[in-house]
Amino acid sequence: MAVRLARRMSELAPYLFADLDRKKQAALAKGVDVITFTIGDPDLPTPPEIVAAGQAALADPLNHRYPAYAGAKVFRQAAADFMLRRFGARFDPDREVLALIGTKEGIAHLPLALLDPGDAILCPEPGYPVYAIGARLLGAVPYQMPLLPQNGFLPDLEAVPAEVLGRAKGLWLNYPNNPTGAVADLDFLTRAVAFAQRHDLVLLSDNAYSEIAFDGYRSPSVFDVPGGREVAVEFHSLSKTYNMCGWRVGWAVGRSDLIKPFSDLKSNLDSGVFTAVQAAGVKALSLWPGPLEGICAEYRRRRDSLVEGLRAAGYQPPVPRATFYVWMPVPGGDDRAFATELLERVGVLVTPGSGFGASGRGFVRFSLTQPTARIAEAVARLKKLGAG
Ligand code: PLP
Repeated sequence: MAVRLARRMSELAPYLFADLDRKKQAALAKGVDVITFTIGDPDLPTPPEIVAAGQAALADPLNHRYPAYAGAKVFRQAAADFMLRRFGARFDPDREVLALIGTKEGIAHLPLALLDPGDAILCPEPGYPVYAIGARLLGAVPYQMPLLPQNGFLPDLEAVPAEVLGRAKGLWLNYPNNPTGAVADLDFLTRAVAFAQRHDLVLLSDNAYSEIAFDGYRSPSVFDVPGGREVAVEFHSLSKTYNMCGWRVGWAVGRSDLIKPFSDLKSNLDSGVFTAVQAAGVKALSLWPGPLEGICAEYRRRRDSLVEGLRAAGYQPPVPRATFYVWMPVPGGDDRAFATELLERVGVLVTPGSGFGASGRGFVRFSLTQPTARIAEAVARLKKLGAG
């Protein structure tokens, strides 16, 4: 008997980097020392105080039982306290905060609470793929808003067709942005909030990179602008902030009339975040900013050595003010060919921008998740290759 899979499985795009991955495996098999800049997963460890808090909570048998669905009160309170200290926005931890098993889980599931088949949701492109997939899997339609260099990688909201707006219920934004490293100022966020109000959209702000910023830049929240609270739910994560990708913990915060149904929905799908992980999260939030200063200083050193090295090699990377990504235009404009050439000729692996959406064509993404010594080695190899 053949398994007859659901039609929705065809919505899952084939693995876009399969070809490059095959080439990487071939290079590794030949003994090439491949320097990998593709993964948005910090190589740095979780700060020891946070690990210790998680270890202590792990040993407590009370935490071996099912977690509270919406998150432990102490975790939701810690998240609310963070929102107040960091953004000056006060939230009710009982009604307006929901623990997530990492923001990816929340981003993927939220459309189930918001969209019906045929509804539309506006998504940035290039962008984190889960915004669109979450909608597609339930038969809703992601409308891709191009993020272009001439607009500072901000979407042109006014260019969204009226027909799409008539069916749209949500607007995803992600600043600081993956993959472009772009940031949004308060003026843009103010316009986005007004746009959401005008068109009856929930503004879904993915702020997973809010704390990874440099040179005094302080990334805003959508709650910093007038009206933000009336239209938005914001997603926060400890993954990037405190090198906690593997722990799986984040939260959604904002409008209670979306948080409550979202929480009800999730209580049918999952059983919450491991309580010991939430305890580590509480510790992390209590330390804020604490270890962040050192973490961001390390990314800044890496950013500077990569950007300076690439420029010396004849490329033109911008200097990102936030995130740990460098989004670089490639000579000739063919990002896939460029990535393949880099891998095959000098053993440097980068992500072709078109993998994040058609508008990413012509760019590659470097992730600053390699120590400076490896960055220096990669740059030396690129110099030998020349910018062609
Ligand atoms: N949002 C963006 C823009 C991301 O780049 C990522 C991870 O790379 C996530 C969300 C998911 O993070 P988490 O580990 O909290 O699920």
